[in-house]
Amino acid sequence: MISLKEALKLDNNGVVELRKELKEKIKANSHLGAYIEQLTNTELSDEYSGIPIAIKDNIQVKNWSITSCSKILQGYIAPYNATVIEKMLSRGLAPFGRTNMDEFAMGSTTESSFYGKTLNPLDNAYVPGGSSGGSACAVSAGIALAALGSDTGGSIRQPAAFCGCVGFKPSYGRVSRYGLAAYSSSLDQIGPITRSVEDAAILYDIIAGYDERDTTSANVEFVSTADKLDANKKYKIALVKNYTDEASDEVKNSIYLAANKLKEAGHEISEVSLSSAKYAIAAYYIIATAEASANLSRYDGVRYGRRGEAESLGAMYATTRGEGFGAEVQRRMLLGTFVLSSGYYDAYYIKAQKARAFISKAYESVLEGADALLMPVAPHAAYKFGELKDPLTAYLSDVYTVSVNLAGLPAISVPVTKNADGLNISAQIIGAQWGEQKVLDIASSLERSC
Ligand code: GLN
Repeated sequence: MISLKEALKLDNNGVVELRKELKEKIKANSHLGAYIEQLTNTELSDEYSGIPIAIKDNIQVKNWSITSCSKILQGYIAPYNATVIEKMLSRGLAPFGRTNMDEFAMGSTTESSFYGKTLNPLDNAYVPGGSSGGSACAVSAGIALAALGSDTGGSIRQPAAFCGCVGFKPSYGRVSRYGLAAYSSSLDQIGPITRSVEDAAILYDIIAGYDERDTTSANVEFVSTADKLDANKKYKIALVKNYTDEASDEVKNSIYLAANKLKEAGHEISEVSLSSAKYAIAAYYIIATAEASANLSRYDGVRYGRRGEAESLGAMYATTRGEGFGAEVQRRMLLGTFVLSSGYYDAYYIKAQKARAFISKAYESVLEGADALLMPVAPHAAYKFGELKDPLTAYLSDVYTVSVNLAGLPAISVPVTKNADGLNISAQIIGAQWGEQKVLDIASSLERSC
């Protein structure tokens, strides 16, 4: 499969050929479960012509079904394009197939999708990560040129790490959320999943920028990155020591390997500790579930998708939601409703917001002395199917990704090495707000030396 950079140089016939070739490959690899509604989907794709980009099923493409891989949204058709889709279309890129994900982007394995699971292309006995598991699988397996995912607490970076590709979450506010099905509005961010850092920069440049239709979009100057991408520039990079200590031995070793490679490449490496580390998971799972409980209240059987049969209006709401949402989504809405309820609001929600401010400050202060931070993406490589037994264990494995969303920072995951089972291990580079260029430059340098 060619790169996005090369695809942008193709003429019309070349793009048509590429789309044809890709359709064949997708059909031949349907066992991976990367795309949903395989056939209709690729046929539907021809409504839009252009360089094919795989789209996570929570980003709206006009006239296409969008379900967030939930039963509750079956039958719903998107009435307009998300801003990222409009931007892609204006640059000759086109949505091409919807990719599998955890229901409403809640999860780390892509096992909670209404459509069934996605396999890890590196070894089919393992999960692809989540929630953007379909996008990462498709890119890594060479059945997508590049893909869009969304990252609320790691859902671009972690599946990219599990599947062995590049996943980039821009600063919060950099990419419009208009047309993205909301999970946790103050954390959600769309970003690219690609096979190289350069392709990530190219796709990021295309989708980023201020959008007046998203009130949380940042009205700050956007400067393109791909044309300035420089793997030779030297930076100050700080290894987050206390985070690395908690990881499995193979992950820990990979991070030290990455630090050494970066040092050999001429960067200055130091060590820092993030005092806020222990609050991240609790704060994230309070804020994310609180916002999710509000956001998902709109799915009531009246306005969107599937409606449950019942005698009265109240019973219809209950049946629709009871039948339509999966177990994990229900768990999170209950948790979110609980932390927002009077009597518990101060004890949980307000405290979590204070912890969030503390986490942002802690990042700010370590980033005063460094251009970027280096740490793992996940404490271990991909899980085997069925290995994750309880939700809490899954939540705890988000330890390295969620605090970045709480602070709204840009971060990328880049493959570093393979473990004894042939699974990928990546490193995470985190920058200051709007520091995308530095993050991409360092990632590019790391990619070159790994
Ligand atoms: N695993 C995290 C969660 O379940 C992150 C999900 C995401 O980024 N969408 O909330």
